Amino acid sequence: MERIRPWRVWLVVVAVCALLRCLGQIGGLPFLGYEIPYLTITCATPVMIVIGILLNRPARPAGWIALAVAQACYAVADVLYSFDVWSTGAMTEPTPSDVFYLTSSLLTGAAVLTFIRRRTPGWDLATGLDALVVAISAGLLSWEFFVEPVAHDSTLTLSAKLTEAAYPILDLMLLILAIRLVLRSGGRSPALRLLFGFLLLMFAADTVYAVVGLLGGENTTEPFTGGLWVVSLGLIGACALHPTMRDFDTRGLATTPAATPARLTMLTIAVLMVPGLQLGENLAGRDLNVPLTSAACAVMFLLVLARMAGLVAAQRQAADTDGLTGVRNRRYFEEALVTECRRAARAGYDIGLLMIDIDHFKKINDTYGHPGGDRVLRELAQRLNTGGRAGTVFARYGGEEFIALVPHVTAGELPIIAERTRKAVADLPIEVTDQTLITVTASVGAAAAPGPLASPAELLRAADEALYVAKSAGRNQAVIAPEVPASSTAHH
Ligand code: GH3
Ligand code: MG
Ligand code: MG
Repeated sequence: MERIRPWRVWLVVVAVCALLRCLGQIGGLPFLGYEIPYLTITCATPVMIVIGILLNRPARPAGWIALAVAQACYAVADVLYSFDVWSTGAMTEPTPSDVFYLTSSLLTGAAVLTFIRRRTPGWDLATGLDALVVAISAGLLSWEFFVEPVAHDSTLTLSAKLTEAAYPILDLMLLILAIRLVLRSGGRSPALRLLFGFLLLMFAADTVYAVVGLLGGENTTEPFTGGLWVVSLGLIGACALHPTMRDFDTRGLATTPAATPARLTMLTIAVLMVPGLQLGENLAGRDLNVPLTSAACAVMFLLVLARMAGLVAAQRQAADTDGLTGVRNRRYFEEALVTECRRAARAGYDIGLLMIDIDHFKKINDTYGHPGGDRVLRELAQRLNTGGRAGTVFARYGGEEFIALVPHVTAGELPIIAERTRKAVADLPIEVTDQTLITVTASVGAAAAPGPLASPAELLRAADEALYVAKSAGRNQAVIAPEVPASSTAHH
């Protein structure tokens, strides 16, 4: 028989209470009849989060504790609010329940922020920009429909205005954080989906509630928003009870997120929302806050441009980088060599070229398999890439061949640099597997040319010949080519 899972039991209780809350009011039960199932879930949710923390023991519980406190505040607010409705229904804003609701939102925001921070290496600027585009778009709508009417409502006191305006603003903040949380490369565990569902349903229920309140008249949606709130709270309880909450905030990969269809759709909707709003208001013959909408459009354009610039830079970077080792690739190197030769000719400095070929690399592949060979290549690439002096251009030239371009090199320095490179490979063993260290050697062929005579083809040919000599002479050596281009002209 399958083991009983706490989060499933909890969701069943939530479903029952949501139905009681919704149908109870439609069916004409007295206030307490349908409010008690609601309050049951509200008050049980922080308890479930605490139980979830104790059961699942997340490595870093700070975010979860903040979430439990947030839900406790929410429960207090709900109880105060229900009591107010039940007894008098005449509290003036800001009521104590407002204070607890708003505190709860802030704490939830803080909790989600700690999750985002943990999950994202660096700040994932690109996703931040995407979330900001959505935020501006949703913020403008929220401002037009919720904040501005409240601000112009002369029947409200200033503190009441601030209170009413705080709800949509905090809701919006939570929506942005929710989007920021799911928009990232990497897997999405059930716990993450449940948390996202909680934030989304909460936003939906709050928005429906606010819109209905704005339209005035009899509130026929109350049973449904009530039920929606119950489900939303149920999801956050289930999230904390779910075992995947434990590794919920493991780090994703630090990559520029792809422009997936879902992301593009979201951005398209967000970007079209503002002109859509303008058109709608214009057709309806209403006044529009032109400076505000123009500013929102302008900022969104800038954000989209920044995002484009980031994507172009990432593409460029990818085109210049060797996939296996992460160092520059041959394409980049060949361009750099042409540029550097031209510059050396103009400025009249010498440039040196080193070709590095690993000795008997086939044997490493044969003994430890291709993954072992790959590991050696990565390790050596990193070692050689960071070992050179400033201004050196280092790249993977082919399978197990590396190449380095050293500007401003003197005739006396080249053999020293070549020998240092050979030793960098041979003197330090490499982990070919987690258990095995092996010594790898490489042969180095080096050539230098005085700036005015430096030609990419000549340098490459001379270094390659020197490498061949090093291989023939028994490998694990550095050979310097005679100054071919220089000496061939010096004779005449
Ligand atoms: P030597 O240079 O000392 O003459 O011998 P070698 O065994 O290194 O000779 P060669 O240059 O002919 O062999 C290079 C081998 O490198 C052949 C190929 O299978 C392997 N190789 C090329 N690219 C990769 C790669 O990306 N990963 C791995 N694991 N092996 C690669
Ligand atoms: Mg080789
Ligand atoms: Mg080779």
